[in-house]
Amino acid sequence: MSTYDVLNPATEEVVTTIELHDVASVDRVIDRAHDVATSWRAVTPADRARLLRRFAEVVDAHREELAQLEVANAGHTIGNARWEAGNVRDVLHYYAGAPERHSGKQIPVAGGIDLTFYEPLGVVGIIVPWNFPMPIAGWGFAPALAAGNTVVLKPAMQTPLTALRLAELALEAGIPEGVFNVVAGNGSDVGYRFVTNEKVRKVCFTGSSAVGKKIMAGAADQVKRITLELGGKSANIVFADADIAKAAAGAPYAVFDNAGQDCCARSRILVQESAYDEFMEKFEVAVKNLKVMDPTNDAAEMGPLISATQRDTVQGYVDESAVAFRGSAPSGAGFWMAPTVMESDGTDRAFHEEIFGPVASVVRFKDEADALRIANDTPYGLSGSIWTRDSARALRVARGVETGALSVNSNSSVRYATPFGGFKQSGIGRELGPDALRAFSEEKNVFISTEE
Ligand code: NDP
Repeated sequence: MSTYDVLNPATEEVVTTIELHDVASVDRVIDRAHDVATSWRAVTPADRARLLRRFAEVVDAHREELAQLEVANAGHTIGNARWEAGNVRDVLHYYAGAPERHSGKQIPVAGGIDLTFYEPLGVVGIIVPWNFPMPIAGWGFAPALAAGNTVVLKPAMQTPLTALRLAELALEAGIPEGVFNVVAGNGSDVGYRFVTNEKVRKVCFTGSSAVGKKIMAGAADQVKRITLELGGKSANIVFADADIAKAAAGAPYAVFDNAGQDCCARSRILVQESAYDEFMEKFEVAVKNLKVMDPTNDAAEMGPLISATQRDTVQGYVDESAVAFRGSAPSGAGFWMAPTVMESDGTDRAFHEEIFGPVASVVRFKDEADALRIANDTPYGLSGSIWTRDSARALRVARGVETGALSVNSNSSVRYATPFGGFKQSGIGRELGPDALRAFSEEKNVFISTEE
């Protein structure tokens, strides 16, 4: 096995060195997950629910430890990291309620009765990116396990530590050996093996659109089930009739949270002409007040980027002549970058490409139709916000924006009880919400004749 030095992005120091799987060793893990799939699906729904609840309780007992691990490994602010560990617990609790409610239908037909069942798929492969290692893992493994599947999960090389710890906590909670497996390894070999290994029946992938497309193409060979959660370039649409002070005060968190490394980042800010100056004035104050600092500090609101490479890529999008203002960032060790706001006419590269860093572009619009035209002028469609006091307009615009998760007078995109996923090239399928188990089950139809 080869090894990999896991870095702390805030200090550039090595946190720990991990062993990496290769294709042969990941095949052995998949074999084991396949072998135990039969006994796991036979665990009664009530017992599976009890095990998931216990897993949630063990995660809760280790919430601070998991949060600290994420701060050290991903540079997340401690406040965010605590929320993320709590999210894993909550998602486990939510889906612990699912095994006993995952019922099929009895459909009226002639000559007998017709029943549907939701059968587990078998082994599910989950590929997780580095931007939200804990929540994205949980959104996959919790409903997958609840539906009776076994799981092999590959975290990103850069951020494997919380996932590896969660696998240990699952065992401590009594989830049987081989049911929930975490394998550290690189994406192109170990991750892609989920696509080519016939024992893996579904791949859940979150990451770049480029890799998502490769996975979709590869999955065609075995008609393998996939869920893809890819990039975004979401719009934050601010109408002149909105509470401009509130929209401007919230806008930095909507794009610079997690240093902008968020597929839901509202990195295109569309402001109606007549409110533009007022918005920019208030937005500038809010950006300059953003606390970009050592992520272990309880007051931190933004930490470093994940790596030097990511910071260089993000910097490459900044056109100095278009910069309206910047916030601050520490100097010295760590992959720091100040939050940066550019003005745009809607034609530049930064306005159209997913930057995945602390860079926002602001553009003016005239009216509702203009706002919709600009918002939809992108291959992505993941999230977005609409700010207005006119509720009819809010609904009209919400129906018109081609994205999967919108919020009105708010910037929050994700709740475990509601569906999450993208339109267009932002992905395929939905995660979370009451129907998540459907994506981890095959619907089987059985007709029973009642004729003599
Ligand atoms: P990737 O899509 O390369 O990585 C995401 C995950 O996929 C990682 O676990 C990675 O493994 C794995 N992976 C990489 N290649 C393959 C493959 N051929 N088959 C299977 N799995 C694979 O994202 P990057 O880390 O390179 O980030 C690049 C850009 O992608 C970002 O700047 C951002 O724009 C976007 N992105 C979007 C995310 C989102 O949430 N929508 C999340 C992350 C990135 P490993 O890294 O360990 O090799």
